[in-house]
Amino acid sequence: MNLNLRGKDEVTYDAIVIGSGISGGYAAMELCEKGYKTLVLERGRMVKHGEYPTANLDNWDLPNQNHVSAEEKALHYFKQERLRWWVNEDNKHWINKDDEYPYQEDKRFDWIRGHHVGGRSIMWGRHCYRWSDIDFEANLKEGVAIDWPIRYKDIAPWYDYVERFVGVSGQKEGLKQIPDGQFLKAFPLNCVEEYFREAVGKAFPERVVTPGRVANLSEYHPDIHKGMRGKCQARDRCWRGCPYGAYFSSLSATLAVAANTGNLTILPDSIVNEIVFDRSLGKATGVRIKDAKTGEETEFFSRIVFCNASTIGTAAILLNSRSETFPDGLGNDSGELGHNLMDHHYGMGASGTLPGFEDTYYKGRKAVGFYIPRFRNIDESTRQKDYLRGFGYQGGAIRGVNEPKGVIGKELKDIIFSPGPYQIHMECFGEMLPYHDNMMYLDFDKKDRHGMPMITFKATLRDNEMKLRQDGVKCAVEMLEAAGCKDISSHNIATAPGACIHEMGTARMGRDPKTSVLNKWNQMHEVPNVFITDGSCMASTGTQNPSITYMALTARAVDYAHKQINKGEL
Ligand SMILES: Cc1cc2nc3c(=O)[nH]c(=O)nc-3n(C[C@H](O)[C@H](O)[C@H](O)COP(=O)(O)OP(=O)(O)OC[C@H]3O[C@@H](n4cnc5c(N)ncnc54)[C@H](O)[C@@H]3O)c2cc1C
Repeated sequence: MNLNLRGKDEVTYDAIVIGSGISGGYAAMELCEKGYKTLVLERGRMVKHGEYPTANLDNWDLPNQNHVSAEEKALHYFKQERLRWWVNEDNKHWINKDDEYPYQEDKRFDWIRGHHVGGRSIMWGRHCYRWSDIDFEANLKEGVAIDWPIRYKDIAPWYDYVERFVGVSGQKEGLKQIPDGQFLKAFPLNCVEEYFREAVGKAFPERVVTPGRVANLSEYHPDIHKGMRGKCQARDRCWRGCPYGAYFSSLSATLAVAANTGNLTILPDSIVNEIVFDRSLGKATGVRIKDAKTGEETEFFSRIVFCNASTIGTAAILLNSRSETFPDGLGNDSGELGHNLMDHHYGMGASGTLPGFEDTYYKGRKAVGFYIPRFRNIDESTRQKDYLRGFGYQGGAIRGVNEPKGVIGKELKDIIFSPGPYQIHMECFGEMLPYHDNMMYLDFDKKDRHGMPMITFKATLRDNEMKLRQDGVKCAVEMLEAAGCKDISSHNIATAPGACIHEMGTARMGRDPKTSVLNKWNQMHEVPNVFITDGSCMASTGTQNPSITYMALTARAVDYAHKQINKGEL
């Protein structure tokens, strides 16, 4: 045990950031650029930009042509067989093995994460959509959970700020449900996606098929896109890690910029077990970590702490930070820590074949297909009687492959070498309401191999989500029909919370310390020098992919902390 009682200066920083993923990387960059000596503690292994082992391989270069055996999958990956399609040779090194990182489920939860420097910023899908007041006001208007303590005007300038740096390609549409932002040029729709946009718009004017808004540099401006970045080559292999730094990740963007300031220290293999609270000061003094390789314990000290270990990781650290003042976890007098666990839900959508475009084709690949933003419950004319909130779709149109049966030889070759029909597919992403008793907690009687109490989940989709899902499928089918698709098939297989990989809500923001953990600046109500800006801060989920909102909240929170420090109030 090394508690560093001597040599304290050596382990004292201006700021500590826990976690190096999307939000932690952003916090580190903002802090370092403001001059703070910043320590980033990451529980996973070191990865540097460019260390993407499969990025330049073709499937035939991989030992099993990108397949992972059923045995290997069953041994390590996901208790739920249905999720295992997701694990391939090209990405398995970014996905935690469940047998190495076990968790318990009172109710099923699919926890998909990767412990390494960069976190899930390496494998994220890069979709970025702004929230609007339709989202920020929904809880209040509908009497659900608690009101958000901020509105769109509070975060809009921070969306501008982060979008410019991140580099979000997209098309302005003037929609109130996903406000336009600082876009790079969009990856254009292909001819069938363009036709689909027109056909859907004609049949359902409130439904807009737009190019997906993604954090891929369709244009590269070195003065803005600092770090180790370059223009997107449309290789469509983003999940392997991009050697061009063409999509936003902590490795290519935020941590690279932070490192250039000379103010950054990253310690990988450093599992933060708890944030240490000093009762006499009424503040956190730092964190206690365990070295993942040696088991040695060390304490680090700082003036402020940003906790960005992701929604579940952050709540686990806080729940484990028990003291005389906070016997139920740091800053948890409200009792809300770990509760209100949410995710988006998917597994519903439709696909069909579109005749009439046989003489058209497209060249190359692109980083994204289309997005259809929410169109339900956004005003009185779109109000639904039987459920609250809404859903959006991600999808695309591709030319399929001809796969004839019972044909061999030259005839087979001739058929498979000519392109098949266009297929349009669309997957629906639904909002999940915050429910107090959807939660995660720590089982202090069971420990993982690092001595951390076992994370345990208890969360389900409810009636509102189920009704919303049915409508999501129905609307998908009617849009494909309106476009003239044939052979339409639909699916509705409810996913468990977690599977959409947008976990949120375990340390929510709010106005009242009695019902929330964080104030409107993402600052703990009860521990003013601790800030939490990952998905745990969210008071609802919206329908939009959430990470750009975490980034905007992070930049805003660092700015606030900096101003408070300058005023001598922190
Ligand atoms: C396949 C996939 C597709 C996705 N697509 C999208 C998308 O299109 N758009 C979108 O908005 N989001 C998407 N997401 C979700 C997105 O990746 C997450 O919202 C985002 O990464 C969350 O950022 P974070 O900083 O909270 O957590 P992470 O990026 O997960 O980083 C958390 C870091 O904290 C570390 N950590 C955890 N516990 C500790 C501890 N005790 N001590 C030290 N370090 C710790 C972890 O190892 C990790 O590196 C996708 C995710 C995946 C996996």
